Amino acid sequence: MTAKILVSACLMGHAVRYDGQAKPLVHPALDRWRKEGRLVTICPEMSAGMPVPRLPAEIAKGKAGADVLSGAARVLESQGGDVTDSFRQAAENALALARKTGCSYALLIDGSPSCGSGFIYDGSFSRQRQPGAGVTAALLKANGIQVFSDRQIEELVAAAGG
Ligand code: SF4
Repeated sequence: MTAKILVSACLMGHAVRYDGQAKPLVHPALDRWRKEGRLVTICPEMSAGMPVPRLPAEIAKGKAGADVLSGAARVLESQGGDVTDSFRQAAENALALARKTGCSYALLIDGSPSCGSGFIYDGSFSRQRQPGAGVTAALLKANGIQVFSDRQIEELVAAAGG
């Protein structure tokens, strides 16, 4: 059976980001995979009950998603609210869906404290990037799912078959 691909809902044009926007990615492979029924779309944060819009949230400086999963870091909203448990639940939901539907790959938007895989923001809410993965991306990777960012779609095409 051809492997399925878990994909961030905001990349597929759903207006589910914290700011109420989408960030659609246009690529012929995405159209093809959708027609072939290979895409499994999820917004991890919404699946954990987070509203749209919602306050921006970031992981602390020098920390990343794996630290959140191990209990060594928290995820805080811009006004200080602790949303760590929701972010952990979001990641668990994404992993459960990936397993249930047979996803070997994930295509997730970079920069998000959930879906980021190459970089995230550093907890200062001043658009400062730091290398690292968000909570969902970290959990998927730890469980053997190959995670690609939106900037790596060509690599995903090569790996998953365009
Ligand atoms: Fe997009 Fe992921 Fe954030 Fe949902 S959690 S809005 S899918 S980046």
